[in-house]
Amino acid sequence: MDQCDVAVIGAGPAGSMAAKYAATSGSKVFLLEEHSSVGWPIECAGLLGLEAMQESELTGGAFILQGLRGAAVFSPGGFRLDFKAKNCKALVVDRRLFDRALARDALQKGAELRLRSAVRKIRKEQGGLVLTLADGEEIRTHVVISAEGVRARLARLAGIKPPSKVLSGAQVEVPFALEDREGVEVHLGESPGLFAWVIPSGEQAARIGLCACDRGYDRLKAFLKKDVIKKRILGSPVGLFVGGLPLGPPAVASADRFLAVGDAAGQVKPTSGGGIYPGLVAAKIAGRVAAAAALDDDCSMKRLGEYDRLWRAALGRELDVGLRANRMLNKMSPEDLDEVVCCLAGKPSLLRIIEAHGDIDRPSRLMAMMLVHLDWDAIRLARLLRFALG
Ligand SMILES: Cc1cc2nc3c(=O)[nH]c(=O)nc-3n(C[C@H](O)[C@H](O)[C@H](O)COP(=O)(O)OP(=O)(O)OC[C@H]3O[C@@H](n4cnc5c(N)ncnc54)[C@H](O)[C@@H]3O)c2cc1C
Repeated sequence: MDQCDVAVIGAGPAGSMAAKYAATSGSKVFLLEEHSSVGWPIECAGLLGLEAMQESELTGGAFILQGLRGAAVFSPGGFRLDFKAKNCKALVVDRRLFDRALARDALQKGAELRLRSAVRKIRKEQGGLVLTLADGEEIRTHVVISAEGVRARLARLAGIKPPSKVLSGAQVEVPFALEDREGVEVHLGESPGLFAWVIPSGEQAARIGLCACDRGYDRLKAFLKKDVIKKRILGSPVGLFVGGLPLGPPAVASADRFLAVGDAAGQVKPTSGGGIYPGLVAAKIAGRVAAAAALDDDCSMKRLGEYDRLWRAALGRELDVGLRANRMLNKMSPEDLDEVVCCLAGKPSLLRIIEAHGDIDRPSRLMAMMLVHLDWDAIRLARLLRFALG
């Protein structure tokens, strides 16, 4: 039977980063991926903030498709708000190439990638865990990091609770007449739960998608028929996916000999639906903690609980503020959304602040800054921001 110190299940961004950090910390690491290649299938719009890019520790490459510095936010009543920053604020990436680059990095640091290695069962045996793969092969390990993604069957079996909710996401990639190749479109009120988006993915191409509390695919079909979108579609979709987006991490993401990271632990920003940034931050911590515990031969829940303390210190407040902001967004009527968009559109000084300090990875900083700069006539917006910031 093959043996390792740390077995990472799933070679998505969180799994590869956890494997890299566990290997760098001196442990023997297997990175187990059920598919026959890394980075496929893709369930992502591929929008990364600059901090996420930094966290990836990749220094550019073919996976970067487009830099973004603008956004147009549409309210249900057709009002719009435009921003354009001086510098690039986010990137659109090819997730297949991005995930592969992350996996290659983990391998360079000594992790061993095993493709077509779907983990089916995990059992406890004295001094460790034994993983059974789909083909019957068994692997012995001191500790498991589940980076299985949103479904996270094995993490649930290990006792890690599910996220508070899972949004239903859907996206198509279509030939599209873009208004601005350097700007995203955010359509509020189209998709209860989050919002709908148009993200440039090429000269005349866009990823059009949404995440909603339910029926993501049906809602996307309805959104694509709206005039504001339909008129600009230049051909049939070249890609389509549906997928779940977990929001609200469980109180504890560790168990005896077991840690969960990324979507498996509900580590997703509730303001934008971005999971790559928080997943990478938590994965580094998970990799370090798992390796140290395995090398010290103490993989108890108490010891691995250090992971929960550290990732919460790094991300907890941002995710909590994001959840409150998401709740607030979902309570707003179409008229409320119109009012907020109009209010912001009428405040150029506030728009300049958003352009200068907007950061999709850490939106709470901008929210706090906006609160300080609101005038007396934006009382409603101030109340909403105060609620989100707790
Ligand atoms: C519609 C939509 C749009 C999104 N857009 C964005 C975006 O623009 N930006 C952003 O930051 N985030 C976005 N996200 C979220 C992002 O896609 C996820 O947060 C991110 O992929 C999570 O990474 P992960 O490594 O935790 O899991 P995943 O990327 O899901 O990887 C999990 C891996 O585990 C493997 N696996 C699962 N079970 C097993 C098993 N038993 N054995 C072996 N292997 C297994 C899978 O094959 C997979 O490779 C979006 C999500 C949705 C639904």
